[in-house]
Amino acid sequence: MNNHHRTNAPRNQGNSKNTYNRIDHRRSDTLVYALGGLGEVGKNMYCFEHEDEILIVDSGVRFPEENLLGVDYVIPDYAYLVKNKAKKKVLIITHGHEDHIGGIPFLLKTVSISDIYAPRFAVSLINKKLEERKMLRSVQIHEINANSSVTMEHFTCGFFNTVHSIPDSLGILINTPNGRVVHTGDFKFDLTPVGTNADYQVMAYIGQIGVTMLMSDSTNSGVEDFSISERKVANEIFEIMRKTKGRLIVATFASNVHRVAQILEAAVKCGRKVIIFGRSMENVVTIGRKLGTIKVGAQHFITPEQLNTLPANKVCIVCTGSQGEPLAALSRIANGTHRYIKLIPGDTVVFSSSPIPGNGASVNQVVNKLFRFGAHVLTKSVLTNLHTTGHASQEEQKLMLQLIKPKYFMPIHGEYKMLKQHGATAMETGIPEENIFMCANGDVLIMRNGKVFPSSYRIQADDIYVDGNDISGVSTAVLKDRKILADNGLVAVIAAIDSSENRILARPMIVSRGFVFIKDSQGLLKEAENIVYHALKEKMAQRTTFSELKNTIRSTLEPFLYHKTHRNPIVIPVILNSKKAMEQMLANRNAKIASTTKTENRKKTTNTKSS
Ligand SMILES: [Zn+2]
Ligand SMILES: [Zn+2]
Repeated sequence: MNNHHRTNAPRNQGNSKNTYNRIDHRRSDTLVYALGGLGEVGKNMYCFEHEDEILIVDSGVRFPEENLLGVDYVIPDYAYLVKNKAKKKVLIITHGHEDHIGGIPFLLKTVSISDIYAPRFAVSLINKKLEERKMLRSVQIHEINANSSVTMEHFTCGFFNTVHSIPDSLGILINTPNGRVVHTGDFKFDLTPVGTNADYQVMAYIGQIGVTMLMSDSTNSGVEDFSISERKVANEIFEIMRKTKGRLIVATFASNVHRVAQILEAAVKCGRKVIIFGRSMENVVTIGRKLGTIKVGAQHFITPEQLNTLPANKVCIVCTGSQGEPLAALSRIANGTHRYIKLIPGDTVVFSSSPIPGNGASVNQVVNKLFRFGAHVLTKSVLTNLHTTGHASQEEQKLMLQLIKPKYFMPIHGEYKMLKQHGATAMETGIPEENIFMCANGDVLIMRNGKVFPSSYRIQADDIYVDGNDISGVSTAVLKDRKILADNGLVAVIAAIDSSENRILARPMIVSRGFVFIKDSQGLLKEAENIVYHALKEKMAQRTTFSELKNTIRSTLEPFLYHKTHRNPIVIPVILNSKKAMEQMLANRNAKIASTTKTENRKKTTNTKSS
């Protein structure tokens, strides 16, 4: 079968005004580009390249959108790194969230990386990930903190603490031969943080010595003002715990380690025993307790069996599923299918989260089911401070820009509208528009003697879909075909030729599935057969090859079908090269058409929706 390759239209996310003067790079330049993280929230991967070295910052995954059925993860295309195998590669991790570390196993399978540098909490999570896949031996992992430095031949990196929803989050100062770059990692500013505070003085000092380019977190660039302090959320949760009479069930993100810690500590302070449900949450609590960021002793935890032996007001259940994920603990509780927890009237369910855009409907469904069981449900609203974000909003982004005072600015970590808005915010702080780079994955910036230019060169940086653990890209091709099949159907063209005499033996035959309703489209298909026939005849007047004939079929048929139906089915040309095969085909033809029409008729009566 011919594999049908379609390339998506180039995603032109660059500056719409196109005012950039793109240039070619020289050997002495430092290149900056993203393989993931721009135009999306997820699969962060930023690269700095100088001569024979590539410094990679973060290696994340993105979780697939709902329309990518059967896809487990989306990862960056590592092809460029594979192609540059001769260059030495070092990976630095800013913090332990999946959109920054989730791609590591896939990266290590594809690309040779000598060393990984990561802060403490991330190291534990990465170790666990690699241990589960028996890959721990393949790489050297070094723990770093704000006082560390990482030195390569062309790059030297220093670090500073930032505030984020997970402990041990770092921003990076990267000294390159062509200027200094600051990469913020994920950050917010919180003047009363839970956990380590941000290194304001260090950031201000870095700004003082001069920074060529700032790359900064854009996730919440659409949110005005200053975000709520995590401390306020902690107080609110404590108040609810104190006032609640019955059993408490609190759902939050496992990735928000500080929040999980606050919830557990508040529960214990209110005399409740705690229990965790959900694999990712158990994971984070185990590591958090081991590292001392979650200060709750073993005596405060109970087993599922002990759950029903304690009075309701002495129990706090902490679980995953705050986004309405169908397989998470909270959804199973709401459906009445949880192994250990049956809701009882008087239970209070607290959502310490807000729905990520797109999850609103599923969260709503879960909330409704919980109410139906008689539970009291508390969610974040204007009256409550049950959740705050881990990312800087506009005023905090301005503060970062003011502290670092960069000459050039590149918004990162966000969908296009977030990057664009962050650019506008940067302009407000005085950065000229021409010094702000709105890049897409694969766009290359050139650093040259303290100046930054966009390159005329682009790196391949498509999405790679991972089905299970396969990253060969096969599933990417399969899924693309599946999508086209689902949306547009399939058309097979069977043509019989005699290559010895260089002639067509009969008019080509067209068979389609899921494209048009055959019975109503005999005219269309006849016309299509005619067009293909004439195109082939013309082509065969000269010497030609099988693949040229197949291309001729596709290039004539695709535009014709699109013009007539506004669909782009997969076109599969089949060429038979013998008289005998042709005779066989013609003999089968009438019988086949008759049976197809019968099946279609049956389908039509049983399922009127099918087309
Ligand atoms: Zn993060
Ligand atoms: Zn992130």
